[in-house]
Amino acid sequence: MCGIIGYVGNRKASTILLKGLKNLEYRGYDSAGIAIKHTAGHTQVKKSAGKLEEIGQSFNSESIEGNIGIAHTRWATHGAVTDENAHPHTDCEGKIAIVHNGIIDNYKELKGRLISKGHSFTSDTDSEVIAHLIEENLGYGFEDACMKAFSSLEGSYAILALKEDEDKIVGVRKDSPLVLGVAEHGIFLASDIPSFLEWTNKVMYLSNYDFIIAEKGGIKVYNEGKEVLRQIDTIGWNIEEAKKGEFKHFMMKEMSEQAETVMRALLQDENIVRDIVDEINNALGVFFVGCGSSYHACLAGSYLFSRIAKVHVNSVLASEFENYEHFLTDRTLAFAVSQSGETADVLFAVRGAKSKGSKVVGITNVLGSSLTMEGHALIMMNSGPEICVLSTKTYTSQVVLMTMLAYAVAGKYEEGLKKIGSLYLDIYNLTSRTMRDSLAKLAEILRDKWDIYLIGRGLQYTTALEAALKIKEVSYIHAEAFAGGELKHGPLALIEDGTPCIVFVSAENKSKILSNAEEVKSRGGYIIGVSSEQDDLFDFWIKVPEAEELNPIIQIIPMQVLAYELAVLRGLDPDKPRNLAKSVTVI
Ligand code: GLU
Repeated sequence: MCGIIGYVGNRKASTILLKGLKNLEYRGYDSAGIAIKHTAGHTQVKKSAGKLEEIGQSFNSESIEGNIGIAHTRWATHGAVTDENAHPHTDCEGKIAIVHNGIIDNYKELKGRLISKGHSFTSDTDSEVIAHLIEENLGYGFEDACMKAFSSLEGSYAILALKEDEDKIVGVRKDSPLVLGVAEHGIFLASDIPSFLEWTNKVMYLSNYDFIIAEKGGIKVYNEGKEVLRQIDTIGWNIEEAKKGEFKHFMMKEMSEQAETVMRALLQDENIVRDIVDEINNALGVFFVGCGSSYHACLAGSYLFSRIAKVHVNSVLASEFENYEHFLTDRTLAFAVSQSGETADVLFAVRGAKSKGSKVVGITNVLGSSLTMEGHALIMMNSGPEICVLSTKTYTSQVVLMTMLAYAVAGKYEEGLKKIGSLYLDIYNLTSRTMRDSLAKLAEILRDKWDIYLIGRGLQYTTALEAALKIKEVSYIHAEAFAGGELKHGPLALIEDGTPCIVFVSAENKSKILSNAEEVKSRGGYIIGVSSEQDDLFDFWIKVPEAEELNPIIQIIPMQVLAYELAVLRGLDPDKPRNLAKSVTVI
């Protein structure tokens, strides 16, 4: 989940890399570091635990001259959050520096072997073995030493390496993201596109096991020992989309974009949609697979398919999917949903399904990600870069895609597009100033609560689950969702005087869910209604339009805003919740 970036070109590498790191920080913020091939002919490393804004100053204060460098922002998997464990890591002599995203599964065995050969280690990470392995093979020359070192690694990795007397960066990727950017003044190798979007929108997507040599004069890519040609694409994203602009946080910016992003999610190639519909109709078993918010979108999808298309679909957590592999055949169709397209649990599920001969449709937001290359068919969310660690606009886009597919399977594709298209103004108003002010008042009421409960029935239950996730991940208040009907089977015991309970109401299940809310109210609960109509039961009312089967697109938006307001009131950074990172590339 770390972010890595490398630059080789004509400009001062430290300045470029520090900016690039800033854009990558959403991928991890335990520590940061850079290594530059200094013009004086040595490798200079600066690294430290902590967020970049706290430590960036110390990097800047020392002028590091050089046009070749690599940098890293960490989400620790092996070794505590300390200066020593921060990347880049170096060999014994400090000549070679590496940055790594992923996990080296066989690092203990490699480390033992290297120590017995006299290498001394300075960190507890799995990553440091890479620098020493390259050093161990230096007799073959830097490039071949890297190739040999990389071939002895097991696990997942995107790695960049440099050496004090080599005018190049050597890189490799296996199951961790790495893309290449080509600017007029130099070449970038990085975990994602937004990190270098300020300098170029010309991108080369790399495949698993690609071994890359980037020099000022050009790029070489090898796979299985042979040089390969990879195409350079010009992408439509622009740097403004990856910047906060007038917004204080990316979370607010991204929530506010939803009227647009929902519409963009509808812009799909109709032929591809029709092919996927045929696959669904011919399949014996359809699975929607995802993690976190994507899983909630999958669950909403299974309700939507049942309701709109009358087709049974299983929604499964990606990390649990292997338990369903016994049912997979070459007639199974699995939809794999991941914003980043790099979620390790989802990719693992994809590979499991493919090994049984099943077909896979990827749903993702990031072009060139592993998921775009591993599925049999692909649907893009078209949300533009999402930088805040929490999913907001990509969640609503995923629900839109599920709804659109359900309509298409029902033979009502056009009708579905029209219905969803008509939500534009409603969505726009849900992040308006008035709505935000009202939710800020609610946040004041809830800011010191220990627990918040959320209930809904049917599609509204899936919204309750997603809303609870939003609240807990950004405000650190315990929030838990239940299906309305389940309250009496246990959770009611948790309700005390003043316990807040958010109730998602739809026209269809109004009387049932309000009677569940009544059960909470009569035990002293504080009822917050999310509905189109006021009710005497509500202590606080969040007014939303009634949108029937489109309620999951609408009702989650005020909940995202509420979670944001809670985080801000509690003095937390909504873009970077503790212990979390955006792209979860470990299992
Ligand atoms: N395993 C490495 C570390 O802990 C990299 C972590 C990652 O990519 O998430 O430093």
